[in-house]
Amino acid sequence: MRGTKKHVVTRASPSLAIVEVKPHDQKDAVPIEAPIVSSYNDQIRPLLDTVDRLRNLNVMREGIQLPTIVVVGDQSSGKSSVLESLAGISLPRGQGICTRVPLVMRLQRSSSPEPEIWLEYNDKVVQTDEEHIANAICDATDVIAGSGKGVSDTPLTLHVKKAGVPDITMVDLPGITRVPVNGQPENIYEQISGMVMKYIDPQESIILNVLSATVDFTTCESIRMSKQVDKTGEGTLAVVTKADMAPEGLLQKVTADDVSIGLGYVCVRNRIGEETYEEARMQEELLFRNHPMLSLIDDDIVGIPVLAHKLTQIQGMMISRCLPEIERKINEKMEISVLEFNKLPIVMASTGEALMALMDVIGSAKESLLRILVQGDFSEYPDDQNMHCTARLAEMLNGFSDNLQAQSQVASEFLMDEIKILEECKCIGLPNFIPRSSFLAILSQHVDGIHAKPVEFIKEIWDYIEVVLSSVITKYSDNFPQIQSSIKRAGCNLMSKTKERSVNREKPDYFSLTGFGNVKISHLRHYHAHLLQQAFDMKMRITSYWTIVLRRIVDNLALFLQFSVKNLVNSQFQKEIVAEMVDTRAGGGIERMLEESPSVASKREKLKNCIKLLKESKDVVAAIVDQNSGYGDR
Ligand code: GDP
Ligand code: MG
Repeated sequence: MRGTKKHVVTRASPSLAIVEVKPHDQKDAVPIEAPIVSSYNDQIRPLLDTVDRLRNLNVMREGIQLPTIVVVGDQSSGKSSVLESLAGISLPRGQGICTRVPLVMRLQRSSSPEPEIWLEYNDKVVQTDEEHIANAICDATDVIAGSGKGVSDTPLTLHVKKAGVPDITMVDLPGITRVPVNGQPENIYEQISGMVMKYIDPQESIILNVLSATVDFTTCESIRMSKQVDKTGEGTLAVVTKADMAPEGLLQKVTADDVSIGLGYVCVRNRIGEETYEEARMQEELLFRNHPMLSLIDDDIVGIPVLAHKLTQIQGMMISRCLPEIERKINEKMEISVLEFNKLPIVMASTGEALMALMDVIGSAKESLLRILVQGDFSEYPDDQNMHCTARLAEMLNGFSDNLQAQSQVASEFLMDEIKILEECKCIGLPNFIPRSSFLAILSQHVDGIHAKPVEFIKEIWDYIEVVLSSVITKYSDNFPQIQSSIKRAGCNLMSKTKERSVNREKPDYFSLTGFGNVKISHLRHYHAHLLQQAFDMKMRITSYWTIVLRRIVDNLALFLQFSVKNLVNSQFQKEIVAEMVDTRAGGGIERMLEESPSVASKREKLKNCIKLLKESKDVVAAIVDQNSGYGDR
């Protein structure tokens, strides 16, 4: 039970004790107007640098979660004001929606008296200074999120290197609004809450919940949201702003802790109006010291310096907790980057070298095609069913055969086709002999019924093989983007020629009935027995003949396919590609292998930098992990 005595809320969360903070760094004493310096921890510095570098590397995209202090709060709760107080600078402040993109604020203590302030976004760096910072942020926000009132989740990073600031990195997010204001998209609430969730959801996030003393905490949207991801509240620290505006009952509010804030509360008074930073801190101190009600609140939970101190502590604890995992992820990412780097296209020095590389590509692709299309060796594509070609082709052939059989069974009324034809072929002839012309007529009816099928089937087969061929070609020419399009074009040409050839050949010129099950014969009653006998004879003959015809069609096609596929891979494939590559009209292929495309060059450069940074980060993290485990041993 949280008691009524004020010191109860100041209890240190047990986990906070992990990191020892040297509260007063004597040798690095800084001017008095920097009240926050006491919260600085030397050990944390290199860690933070590493974490920041990783952040710049965008490792979060790679799934490496970095410990981050995320500032959330309802609109106008005073988020920006809190950041301002922590950084000792002016941020865009005021009514309505000012923060429209995630603002990553990297505070870095420096010993130089001259502050350095710059913005980074979309790979751009913009230098600015204390006086122009608010404008610079607004301008950058306009660039990122448009000049309207819309929001965007592309982050903007603000670096503040200055004497007296605490070494912390925080993310300021747009305030949560329920109702869109004029000019805001209808789904503004969903957009912002989605963005907030994305930032606070990872376990590694520390939620800094900014609450205005003027409101009932239980009604805060930001509390509702942080509860969703941090039910116990152990990753949430609350800052209560505007203590000056609602001093009454504030002590009870933070003591009662109705909303379960695990890391505790800090009550602050931010800069008001045109006060300077120093004046604001002084006024804050006076307020909490002299105000009849506010002075009752424990010193350990009031004021910006206390907040800065706590944040540094929590951040340090969080980082050391996450380090082993970060180290593991860095290694993983590094391996992937190195692999990717090694796979980058090689730059050729001479035409001879290029030719050799081309022959290599063709040879490897051809071998791969032979394995999957002819030999049925799928070891190269264990999981890609579509590339298990011999099996797929056999399936297609079986399907085709079934389809043919099914087609020939859709008959009209039993024997009626035969009877009609026999009646039309009446002639003077010997009894019991079926007229030859009627036999041919019925056969041609059957043939008409299926004659389009083999052609359709062959087309389907080539379409399938074209997909396979294209994917093999792409795979093997991936390292040579300069010529990949030419090789792919050669593949397409080859397939269209092949299709044309086989369609011209596949005109079936000859062509058979198994079981009929129970058949209705009432309609036959008024025909002459002799005619019926003849019709029945003819049907039986045609039926058994037709079965043989169909089987032959299928066998024939199977042989034809086997032959064509082998021929395609063994002799046509290479010829077609070489022809395309030496065709100067098509832009001359081989010479292009000597050039490196700008996109590859820039990818190479990026990967190189990324690997370098990862390597450095790895060393830093490793050194710290080693050092920590060294302490642990004692
Ligand atoms: P945000 O929308 O959460 O970023 O809120 P802002 O930081 O823009 O603050 C909203 C308004 O509350 C501004 O006019 C601030 O000046 C004011 N404000 C913030 N903190 C305090 C405080 O501690 N005391 C007083 N009196 N006003 C404050
Ligand atoms: Mg704001």
